[in-house]
Amino acid sequence: MASFDPDRIEIPNGHYIHAALVRGPGALGVSRPSDAAPYAELPMADAERVDEAVASARRAFQTSGWASQPPRERARVMRRWADLIDADIDYLAALEALGSTRPIDQARAWDVPYTAEGIRFFAEFADKHGGEVAATGHASLGMQIAEPLGVVGAIAPWNFPLSMTCWKVAPALAAGNTVVLKPSELTPFTAVRLAALAIDAGMPPGVFNVIQGNGATTGDTLCRHPDVAKITFTGSTATGRHIMGACAETGPKPVTLELGGKSPQLVFADIPDIERTADTLAAAITGNAGQVCVAGSRLLIERSLLEPMLERLQTRFDALTPGLTWQSGTRFSPIVSEGQMQRIESVVTRAREAGADVVAGGGRFDTAAGGFYRPTILQVQSARNPAVEEEIFGPVLSVQTFDTEEEALALAEHEVYGLAAGVHTADISRALRATRRLSAGTVWVNRYGRSNDYILPTGGYKRSGIGRDLGRAAFEANLHHKSVLIGIDG
Ligand code: NAD
Repeated sequence: MASFDPDRIEIPNGHYIHAALVRGPGALGVSRPSDAAPYAELPMADAERVDEAVASARRAFQTSGWASQPPRERARVMRRWADLIDADIDYLAALEALGSTRPIDQARAWDVPYTAEGIRFFAEFADKHGGEVAATGHASLGMQIAEPLGVVGAIAPWNFPLSMTCWKVAPALAAGNTVVLKPSELTPFTAVRLAALAIDAGMPPGVFNVIQGNGATTGDTLCRHPDVAKITFTGSTATGRHIMGACAETGPKPVTLELGGKSPQLVFADIPDIERTADTLAAAITGNAGQVCVAGSRLLIERSLLEPMLERLQTRFDALTPGLTWQSGTRFSPIVSEGQMQRIESVVTRAREAGADVVAGGGRFDTAAGGFYRPTILQVQSARNPAVEEEIFGPVLSVQTFDTEEEALALAEHEVYGLAAGVHTADISRALRATRRLSAGTVWVNRYGRSNDYILPTGGYKRSGIGRDLGRAAFEANLHHKSVLIGIDG
């Protein structure tokens, strides 16, 4: 039985700097998404606390040996860290489920093992990359040496606290950098546990630090710190814009930005198995209650399939009932906060005012203690509807119909976002044509959503991001190259 008592979990509350849990200054209330009960007062790092964490990371970069040791040793520590995460699953999964939207069964089956695997994946790059010998004249020897950047500042969102931390932190550490991470103030604690386990695995103090606080104060201060060499960020497009501005003003320093999405799912009438496609579409908008960057939130469907598909989606949506994240068997997630709930409600209201028809859902579940939003379908006639234009980050699917492939591809194009897209068809040529045309960092054909492989990079076209997480690209984005020219002509 994975169910647990949420009142009996020890909370690692504090910043984690130089291998120690530190408190203060300030306090921010933190609540459980499932029942809105406050459960901790989070300290908020001011400029002095941020400076302390960055100084710890800088010292560790210069003197701890993390960057200078044989890279195989670094990989070994990271693999040990991953093993400790796997072994800590009972506590870590409960801590994640307590404070986030992740139901305990999913935290155990996905978030914890996926995080450990990600650390192993990036650890393997540590000693499997090199520089280059350049084509120079024989009077000299030219080389390019890859080196870590120094202190990397990482800023994470709340929707998958453990795995987003892994995406940001693991490639930076594997490349020999040291890190100061600011988790979301809504889901701050599992990152602290990860940092403590890293110390148990043999990572030197100061290599991985965690600071707590909000975005406007703590996050912004981290971005502007002169000793932070790079910012790697996952969150909304609006925040990404601020962060890039802060990094430009105080640097410039490089950024990796994984931002928002409004991803289309193109469904053609030739799909061989409507039940399977309906399963895929429903999961793509209701998983984590739609609080997923790559949520398949815009259904574009060939007109003849509209009615049978809506009927099937409705059946699947009806089967999803709210549940507390600490109860085994819960499949449908709460909305992370009342603020996020109001954002969802605001878009749905404006979408209706602009002419959207509510085919399913359209409001909160009224039985649950916390905030749960009904899986919702909004059929729209015009692409100029808030349900199509805005990232909702909730279980809300907009639906538009098309008659031709060309029309489908035109509707798929979003003015702002280009994170992911899905194509469902039995026609391989059509799938490949669509794949070439779609403006999206990831295209899924006859499936939707990631596998647990780390090898394919992920990131955005358009304003969905800059740079890539995952894959070799994420590792390489944490290095820079030094050119060396040696005179050898005597
Ligand atoms: P958010 O942008 O509100 O916050 C993300 C993080 O940035 C938090 O830690 C927050 O405290 C911090 N922050 C806020 N303002 C800041 C500032 N001015 N300076 C520095 N830091 C600041 O996003 P969120 O609500 O936590 O997460 C949801 C968003 O994340 C959605 O838009 C979603 O699409 C996106 N997301 C993208 C990906 C991806 O891979 N592209 C993955 C997950 C989530």
